[in-house]
Amino acid sequence: MERVDTDVLIVGAGPTGLMLANQLGRRGVRAQIIDRHAGPARETRALGVQTRTLEIYAQLGIVERALELGRRATGANMWAEGRWAARVPLGDIGRELSPYPFVLILGQDDNERLMGDRLRDWGMAVQWRTELVGLAQEPGQVTATLKDPGGALRRLTAAWVAGCDGARSAVRELSGIGFPGEPYEHVFFVADTRATGSMVPDELNVYLWREGFHLFFPMRGADHWRVVGILPPALRGRDDLTFNDVIPSVRSEAGSGLVFQECTWFSTYRIYHRRAARFRDRRAFLLGDAAHIHSPVGAQGMNTGLQDAYNLAWKLALVTSRRAAPALLDSYEAERIPVAERLLRTTDRAFALIVSDDWLAGLFRTRILARILAFAMERETIRKLAFLTISQTGIRYRASPLSETLAGLPRGAPRAGDRVPWLRLKLEPTGSAEDLFQKLADTRFNLIVIGQSPPPGLGEPLHTLIVPEDPGNDRELAGVGIPKPSFYLLRPDGHIGLAGVRLEVAAVARYLQERVHLGSERGEPGVDTASSAD
Ligand SMILES: Cc1cc2nc3c(=O)[nH]c(=O)nc-3n(C[C@H](O)[C@H](O)[C@H](O)COP(=O)(O)OP(=O)(O)OC[C@H]3O[C@@H](n4cnc5c(N)ncnc54)[C@H](O)[C@@H]3O)c2cc1C
Repeated sequence: MERVDTDVLIVGAGPTGLMLANQLGRRGVRAQIIDRHAGPARETRALGVQTRTLEIYAQLGIVERALELGRRATGANMWAEGRWAARVPLGDIGRELSPYPFVLILGQDDNERLMGDRLRDWGMAVQWRTELVGLAQEPGQVTATLKDPGGALRRLTAAWVAGCDGARSAVRELSGIGFPGEPYEHVFFVADTRATGSMVPDELNVYLWREGFHLFFPMRGADHWRVVGILPPALRGRDDLTFNDVIPSVRSEAGSGLVFQECTWFSTYRIYHRRAARFRDRRAFLLGDAAHIHSPVGAQGMNTGLQDAYNLAWKLALVTSRRAAPALLDSYEAERIPVAERLLRTTDRAFALIVSDDWLAGLFRTRILARILAFAMERETIRKLAFLTISQTGIRYRASPLSETLAGLPRGAPRAGDRVPWLRLKLEPTGSAEDLFQKLADTRFNLIVIGQSPPPGLGEPLHTLIVPEDPGNDRELAGVGIPKPSFYLLRPDGHIGLAGVRLEVAAVARYLQERVHLGSERGEPGVDTASSAD
């Protein structure tokens, strides 16, 4: 078979494509990333960086920079019809669950810049002004037709193509994959402003009113606020709008004392909820907005795309380096479609409640919602559930073909498919407790062995951590329901692959061979997958 020009062609250098490029680059995969724009986007667009993303940023080596640039959302102040109603504490609600137990307010442009800069460390750079215009799948490879900056067409062959090319994805359209869903009737506006008013400084301010809401996000710099709201019906359908047209309605709800000094970016956008019918056509994958779009409620969009990329990257790395058979890639869709489905369902419900024009819903929003939220967040279990959902640390793949929980683990113990809990464990008998996440190598499988000695013969590709006998370790493990003895085999992305009580070499070897398809690669980097026909 002829050698392809690149193992992976990444189409689109938004957050999703940049994350995928980084994850492939640091694993030594031959990959190219193209984007039809002339350079990085300047707009902030998405703002909320969730806990799970920060954990991944830590592995990528960019979390410190992100934390320096961003602002931690410590609380949300709820205003009902101009009057302060309640404060929902957001800071540290997941204190015991992650080293980054908060939402970080950091614009999409900053996120893209951090990931774009990091690309250089792997010897990669985005090829700007390069557009994908054609895609043909042949046995063993994909031929992409690219339009270069001067307008010339050229062909590039790749073993795999990753469509990270946004809501109007060319990869999706050229692959004939449907994108069913609907637009919402409301039109959103978003504005980056300098403003003073009743807003509680440095916190999220939510102004609820009968006809809708306005959100004020604190941004970097004095009096810098991102304002998001729904366009008043009278303004819908106009394409010459400026922020000045919207100010009267914002002022009437957020208070007449509101003064806007400057608006650096204003945009309106229609929101859709759509999901691609499949996330894959043979050698082409869909990730991020190319695969799913939904309302911005909960700041999940960008984060979900980043997670799609993190899920696919380690699998592509094993397949392109011929350490695993392409059948491993089947688990991408099996794991990420249910996540997208759940996300669309929950954001749709929340959005309907927030924007409903219904009189009763308006009353609920202004009289009841703020108080319920504040009351609920005082309850530990509700707070934890809210954190797990919004932070994306609760995402799990229990039904995945890559998840196997062996008999004997008690109910309540973490199971295969779950993200491994964050623990502080003493890993050296004479040392002090260390952050487990810092000890995990996310480019390898990690094996955590508890209350037993690892049997000989485990070897590559495992990175083994033995948890010594220690009362502090016992308390930490018991706190998350991990019994002694037990073992947890983690996939590179930190999700549990295999979990059980007594560690046996044969069970681990069988898991890696039969479920991960390690060591069962049978040919060149273009072998067809077992489940899909070229
Ligand atoms: C106005 C606005 C406000 C938003 N606010 C929020 C928010 O507050 N919170 C939130 O979570 N989300 C928000 N979003 C959504 C969020 O921006 C997206 O979820 C996120 O950008 C998805 O990232 P992506 O990389 O998958 O796609 P994109 O960011 O859309 O990137 C796709 C890239 O692919 C490139 N491309 C497209 N076609 C081709 C082609 N044929 N060849 C080469 N390159 C191509 C494009 O140039 C683009 O750079 C907002 C979106 C908009 C428009």
